[in-house]
Amino acid sequence: MPKADGAKRASAYGEQAGALAKGLAECGIDAIALNYVDNSGITRVKAVPPARLEAAATRGVGMSPVFDVLLVDDSITATEAATAPVGDLRLHPDLARLVNLAAQPGWAWAPVDRRARSGEPHPLCHRNFASRMVARAAERNLSAAMAFEIEWVVSSGAGDDFTPVTLGPAYGMTRLVDCADYLREVVRAFEAEGLGVEQVHPEYAASQFEISVKHNDPVGAADDSVLGRETVRAVGLTHGWRTSFAPSVVAGQVGNGGHVHVSLRRGDCNLFAGGDGPYGVTAEAEAFMAGVLRELPALLALGAPSVGSYLRLVPQHWAGAYQAWGLENREAALRLVTGTAGHEPGSANLEVKCFDLSASPYLVVGGVLAAGLAGLEDKLQLPPEVTVDPATLTKRQLSVAGARRLPASLD
Ligand code: GLU
Ligand code: MG
Repeated sequence: MPKADGAKRASAYGEQAGALAKGLAECGIDAIALNYVDNSGITRVKAVPPARLEAAATRGVGMSPVFDVLLVDDSITATEAATAPVGDLRLHPDLARLVNLAAQPGWAWAPVDRRARSGEPHPLCHRNFASRMVARAAERNLSAAMAFEIEWVVSSGAGDDFTPVTLGPAYGMTRLVDCADYLREVVRAFEAEGLGVEQVHPEYAASQFEISVKHNDPVGAADDSVLGRETVRAVGLTHGWRTSFAPSVVAGQVGNGGHVHVSLRRGDCNLFAGGDGPYGVTAEAEAFMAGVLRELPALLALGAPSVGSYLRLVPQHWAGAYQAWGLENREAALRLVTGTAGHEPGSANLEVKCFDLSASPYLVVGGVLAAGLAGLEDKLQLPPEVTVDPATLTKRQLSVAGARRLPASLD
C-alpha cells in the first residue's frame, strides 16, 4: 500500500476511534479492556479510558515483548525470539470488535493486534497468525466459518475449594432450576455483547455448564471465545461464584472441552454439503478434514497445550482422544456433523473435539486452517470412518481403520 494511503487510513481510523470514544463516555464507560492471548493461553490486558482510545487506535498501547515468554504461573523464560526486558510492542485495538461489557458495568472491551513500533505485525501475534491463515484460504477462494463451544465448571467454594453450585444430574432440569437466574444472566450478557447464543445447558460433570454461540469468521470466532469466557467469569462473580475453564477440574472426572466447529465455504456454498464424498462432503472438504486429521498429534501442542489437558483427553470421556473421524462419533477427535436431513448446507460442519480452553483460540483457528489447507494442497482422502467407540477396538482393528490413540501427555 502506498505510504499516503496508509496515513489516510490511519487518520480515518483515529477519527472513527474518536467518535466511538465519545459514544462510550456518553454511555458511562470508564475504561476499555484491551485483550490478547499469549503463548501460555492466558488472556493479558491493558486498559485505557475512552479519552485515550484515539491514541490507542492510531499509535497502539505499549506492552513489553517479554510477555511472549511468560508462563502460566507468570514466571518468565527466554527464547531466541524474546529474551530481554528491553523493547516495546504496540497493542492496536480492533475497533470493529469494540463492545460494552454486559456483566462489568462501566467497562468496554476490544481484542488487539500486536505490532512492532514500525507498525509491522509482530511475528508472535497469534491474532495476526490467524488472519494470515484466513488470507491463505482466500488465495484458494475459500473462507471458513468457525465457532468454539465453551464448557466450564462453577464453584461456590472459597479459593481453590471446589463446591458445586448445584447437585442436579448431568443435563438435568434440576440444575437449570437451581441456577435459573445465573444461566439467564449468562445468556442475556452474551446476547447484549452480540454473541448470538445457539444453546446453553448443564453439562455432564458436577456443576458444569456449556454455551454454544453462532459461527463467525475464524478470527472473529477466536475473539468470541475470549469475550465469552470473560463474560461467563464475570456473571459468576456477581453470584460470588468462581468459574474454571481448566481442562480438568477434578482429576478422573469429565473435563472442560473447547471444541471447535469449522465449515469451509466458497462464496455462500458450504463445501461440507452437496458433494460426492462421504456423507455428502465435497472433495475439497474431505481433503481439508484429512489434513486436520493427519496433523492432530501436532495440533494438540496448540489446542491442548497444558499438562492438565491430558487429564481430560482420555478415552470414554467424550473428549475425542483418538486420531479418527466418524459421523456423529463423540469419541473420535473429528466428529462430522451433518445436521437434520435436508438442512445440510446450513448445518454440515466438522467438530474438532480434542482441544480445550487452555489453548490460545487464535492459534487453534490458524492451526486448523493451516493443517486443512495442507490437506487440500496434498489432495488427501479420508481413511475409513470409525463408527464405534474407538476404545472398544483392538489394536489391529484400530490400525485397519487408520486410527490411533492421540498423545497421552504433553511430553
Ligand atoms: N466435556 C467433554 C470434553 O471434555 C465434552 C462433552 C461434549 O461432547 O459436549 O470435551
Ligand atoms: Mg459439551
